[in-house]
Amino acid sequence: MLETAVPASGGDGERLNPLRAGIESDRITDPCSIVLFGASGDLFKRMLLPAIWSLRMRGMLPNGFALIGFARTKYSDDEFREYCREQLEQFAPDGSKPRGELWDTFARCLGYITADFKQVAHFEQLRERLDENDKRAGTGGNRLFYLATPPSVFPGIIEMLHRADLDPHSNEHGWTRVVIEKPFGIDLESARALQKTVERVFSEHDVYRIDHYLGKEPVQDIMALRFANTIFEPIWNRNYIQSVQITSAESIGIEDRGNYYDHAGALRDMIQNHVLNLLALVAMEPPASSDADAIRNEKFKVFSAIARPHHEDVMKMSARGQYGPGSIDGEKVPGYRQEPDVAPQSNTETFAALRLGVDSWRWAGVPFYLRSGKRLAKKISEIAVTFKPIPHRLYGESTDAIEPNMLVVKIEPDEGVALRFEAKVPGPKSHIRSVSMDFNYGTGFGFHSPPAYERLLSDAMRGDQTLFTRWDAVELAWEIIMPVLDVWENTKDFSFPNYAAGDEGPDTALTLFADWRRL
Ligand code: NDP
Repeated sequence: MLETAVPASGGDGERLNPLRAGIESDRITDPCSIVLFGASGDLFKRMLLPAIWSLRMRGMLPNGFALIGFARTKYSDDEFREYCREQLEQFAPDGSKPRGELWDTFARCLGYITADFKQVAHFEQLRERLDENDKRAGTGGNRLFYLATPPSVFPGIIEMLHRADLDPHSNEHGWTRVVIEKPFGIDLESARALQKTVERVFSEHDVYRIDHYLGKEPVQDIMALRFANTIFEPIWNRNYIQSVQITSAESIGIEDRGNYYDHAGALRDMIQNHVLNLLALVAMEPPASSDADAIRNEKFKVFSAIARPHHEDVMKMSARGQYGPGSIDGEKVPGYRQEPDVAPQSNTETFAALRLGVDSWRWAGVPFYLRSGKRLAKKISEIAVTFKPIPHRLYGESTDAIEPNMLVVKIEPDEGVALRFEAKVPGPKSHIRSVSMDFNYGTGFGFHSPPAYERLLSDAMRGDQTLFTRWDAVELAWEIIMPVLDVWENTKDFSFPNYAAGDEGPDTALTLFADWRRL
């Protein structure tokens, strides 16, 4: 079985296993208290708690560490510890279940405040707890506030942090940072309103807006692929690239999130954040350094160069869909409108596809096709860069299809890079066929990449904002999709449901672009 832990650089692991050469030792984060607003929720138990526990298991948490849960559900400290243990029994990966001395010391770092988010007194109680942690647990005055509640509660929490003197300006002993879960707003206007509240209390360098896609290793590798090699960058432009397609497909439906999803849809839920961020990494210019702002400046420039769709063009550059009943892996599943908490005549899209262009010297005329959807044939996230066809045919009989070269960055479930190129089929004839050169993280480096939340939490504790989204980019991303949102929301699609669960998506997606890769 592959290991999940990253070995220390230069240790026995590296000497014995050449695949591990160059892998850095883990860096311990700053001492701090993390306050988890929404610690009784789904994200905390499935993602955040296992990520923090894994950091502890890998020795990446400092001795001075505390985690305070803050939510409405009633727990005493002991009950919260027991709740966390039960969740880890279920959600921590095999081999890292909460056991023994390590769990006992970790459990002692956990505490909980049962709170009404509208009562300043509960935030003052939190401040006292944090001061106590600084004295007793050595958390050094450093505070990481993680907002894992429904977004409607974000402004109230930030306001209360200010009123209870928990803002960065009131902290004379250490740093105060806020991590804000997605979605950051539900449209341009609400995002701007939220930002106004945020900036009244926090400076941009204290704000960590999560897009967990950016924490995935293959996503981080896009920059390495482009800027740590010489062979790709010379052809990474309109002269050689025909098109780029970015896919984020899920086979699951909306599970028990109908209330949220029926007001969101695929465009808001996936394209505005994850998929546009992938586009930025593919299209950005080389940053002058690996500094967080040098990178984020280049991403901002990409978003600035994406032409805003005109309302009258929206139907020509987009396709939307909603799943009906169907089957996935041989099992019958209901249609979207039959899911719990979904309106029976809902106009919400569960599939969205767009064609965008980046108006720059490098990319003029190259279409970027983006698609995301639920209940599709397969769970797959990838970026496929298709190169231009050969200019003159030398090989192959006329019946042979000579495919253009394609570079595929595989994000999930496989993680790696594949290059499709043409080769001669062995034999007396000059038949040509596509073959693939594949790199996979698991086999290439000998261990699985850590989950995105682990990386993002440790970066926030260390003060590295590279993988978090800056406000100016969030605002531009909303500006780009707003015309599409406006048109879709104001024009009912009478063809819904227009794809069966387990399909490749609606036929209209093929009208937008005939060459989508099959899922
Ligand atoms: P849940 O609804 O499961 O949990 C929300 C948490 O917030 C609970 O602890 C709940 O506490 C608290 N809460 C809910 N309503 C209120 C309220 N009105 N006032 C105060 N507290 C409230 O949500 P999730 O955990 O699924 O999501 C949390 C955030 O993370 C959201 O912003 C979501 O968009 C984002 N997110 C979630 C993902 C997921 O997979 N779950 C994935 C990506 C992002 P209590 O019930 O004790 O009051």
